[in-house]
Amino acid sequence: MTSNAVKAPAAPVHLWTSPAASVEADERSESASVEVLDEIRRLRRARDAVILAHNYQVPAIQDVADYVGDSLGLAQAAAKTEASVIVMCGVYFMAETAKILCPDRTVVIPDARAGCSLADSIDAEQLRAWKAEHPGAVVVAYVNTTAEVKAESDYCVTSGNAEDVVRSIPQDREILFLPDMFLGAHVERATGRNLHVWMGECHVHAGIRPDEVEERRRSNPDADLLIHPECGCTAQMVWARSAGAIGQNRSFVLSTEKMLTHARSSDRNRFLVATETGMLHRLQKELPGKRFEAADPNAVCRYMKMITPLKLRDALRDLEPRVEVDPDVAARARVAIDRMLAVPASKPSFE
Ligand code: SF4
Repeated sequence: MTSNAVKAPAAPVHLWTSPAASVEADERSESASVEVLDEIRRLRRARDAVILAHNYQVPAIQDVADYVGDSLGLAQAAAKTEASVIVMCGVYFMAETAKILCPDRTVVIPDARAGCSLADSIDAEQLRAWKAEHPGAVVVAYVNTTAEVKAESDYCVTSGNAEDVVRSIPQDREILFLPDMFLGAHVERATGRNLHVWMGECHVHAGIRPDEVEERRRSNPDADLLIHPECGCTAQMVWARSAGAIGQNRSFVLSTEKMLTHARSSDRNRFLVATETGMLHRLQKELPGKRFEAADPNAVCRYMKMITPLKLRDALRDLEPRVEVDPDVAARARVAIDRMLAVPASKPSFE
């Protein structure tokens, strides 16, 4: 990596703090009355709406949603839906992606302040300046980016296809990889390519400390460690495992589906899950006979938790806040997004 990058940082580096970081999750988010949930279902029918929810949403939102998944799955679900209205229960860049894929639909997000510290670590102007320093370089952007940054990028990638995309780029081309420094370091190690890596990070993964997770593993020797490579919050864990800071014995980097398959067939009954804590809900719901615990109980994305059942009800009722993307930006971003959708996550597991 170049001067824009870090080599195997020994500890999380806090490079950016979101101004919205002080916004606390709505206390009402953890539960919702039967009346509110019934109203959500009634409004969904009346509006011909589909509710798409990220795995990190609170349980009540996940339970009422039509589809629950990761950011790639949400983009695929948006691209396929025939509903007139898409309600994105996730963070803003996910709603932008839905709007880019479905420009003729109404896209709403229950709280437009639900940003992403990783996506906000680079803006289009910064990217243009970085590109000017490396004329001719190929820009590979993780999906956690704004529409404007995607519009300046050649490829949009997920953690599952980032390695394949980097390998497919001719050796003589420089590559700018953004915005996650840990995912960039991991891809650089896995592919053997020299990358210029933007030093962005997510506030949640800045809190998941590999040394503390290893300590928790030592105290729970009967539990497997499952690392979910979704979102910036686990990129550091993926990097730490490939760097040897997390032992590879009984630790697995798995997609949600592969986590379920692994846990179902495993002779183990306890699993430490290294990702945002919202992921535990689906695992526990689908496999009630097994025990899933957070590898770091403080790994909570406050932006995801800004979406509440009451705000979802209001968004369906008012069809606000709407998500709009400038048509020129959308057309350019669509090229990078289509490339992401065309290269399926061939590596949902890093095994
Ligand atoms: S967990 Fe991190 S990367 Fe994911 S949405 Fe939240 S702030 Fe963004």
